[in-house]
Amino acid sequence: METADARLIDAQGLDAVIAVLGELGYDTRGPVVRDGAVMPGTVTGVVDLPVGYHDEQAPGHYQLEYRGDNTVFAWAVGPGSWKAELFPPTQELWRATRDGGDLTFSEPDADYRPLALIGARPCELAALDVLDRVLRDGGTPDPHYRARRDGAFIVVAECGVPAATCFCTSMGTGPGADVGFDLALTELDDGAGHRFVVRVGSERGAEVLAGVSSLPASPANLEGRRQVLAAAADATTRQLSVDGLGALLARNLDHPRWDEAAQRCLACGNCTLVCPTCFCSDVRDTTTLTGEIRRQRSWASCFDLDHSYLHGGPVRATTSSRYRQWLTHKLSTWWDQFGTSGCVGCGRCIAWCPVGIDLTEEAAAIRSTDGAVRPGAAPGRVSS
Ligand code: SF4
Ligand code: SF4
Repeated sequence: METADARLIDAQGLDAVIAVLGELGYDTRGPVVRDGAVMPGTVTGVVDLPVGYHDEQAPGHYQLEYRGDNTVFAWAVGPGSWKAELFPPTQELWRATRDGGDLTFSEPDADYRPLALIGARPCELAALDVLDRVLRDGGTPDPHYRARRDGAFIVVAECGVPAATCFCTSMGTGPGADVGFDLALTELDDGAGHRFVVRVGSERGAEVLAGVSSLPASPANLEGRRQVLAAAADATTRQLSVDGLGALLARNLDHPRWDEAAQRCLACGNCTLVCPTCFCSDVRDTTTLTGEIRRQRSWASCFDLDHSYLHGGPVRATTSSRYRQWLTHKLSTWWDQFGTSGCVGCGRCIAWCPVGIDLTEEAAAIRSTDGAVRPGAAPGRVSS
């Protein structure tokens, strides 16, 4: 459906969308307020969404504020991304049980109840597209990710109130969404009232919306949507210059800025855990006293010393080399591997870094001193 065919619903209509999805058997997940942040959770209606909440974000800072207004989506992304819904932090891959002298292997079913992700942001759609290239469409697809992803119904909430940490406009991932959703909502809250412009992105989206009372969106409603997105783009003041960025980082592997960042970096891995595109994982086997063996996959971080352990030692022994690996993979070598940026500009790693390291600032610092080399390093040498 084109924008010209968009519909208009109010909060009751959004309630009805969630109810229809539940009746169709979807596990309806959406943003909820939990532990002082907007996090993915179970939603059964608008009452479960962050109605009246707003956020304030800055490097190393996230604060949720309740203002008690009607708005449902007047906040930017929280620390929990949809990655965890589709690629959980831990996943059993197989188990083996002993039966006499034989071992019997079994795998968990990849037969999941379909997910409805309600209120995903446009940058998060872009992040799912990145994960798809690795976990679904690559050479070794993950059956659990694929099963969850292929069945997922996505209701995107376009952004009207970006955080100070957002830079989706630099990455071309927001504040609006054109593809990758079943339904797209744009929240309007002006003199004419509180309602949502709804656009349809798939046949099943049309089927769900057909079960909900709605009106055709008027030209004034569509102009309202345009103004919301234009204001959000104007309010997105953080920038990352992507012009020649991959090559810039590739030729600055011995720049002194990596060591400067490492003097602050705690190697805690927060940035990788909150990032919606980081997909590295580790596999461990555990055994029980009864002889059962379980192989489990868990999220891993390139900031862990063991992540690059090879042949008796870590390849990236210093925090400087691990920070450089993370940033250059996101912004440079991801293009070589997957044909896209590994960063979608959500800003989570900036807000949730405990010492406020900001990748846009780090990249800008290297750009402004392109070619600088730390003492004792040979230009262009890949060092740890
Ligand atoms: S690198 Fe940072 S800003 Fe980019 S997608 Fe990951 S968390 Fe978001
Ligand atoms: S950059 Fe920040 S969040 Fe990432 S590992 Fe270093 S201290 Fe932790």
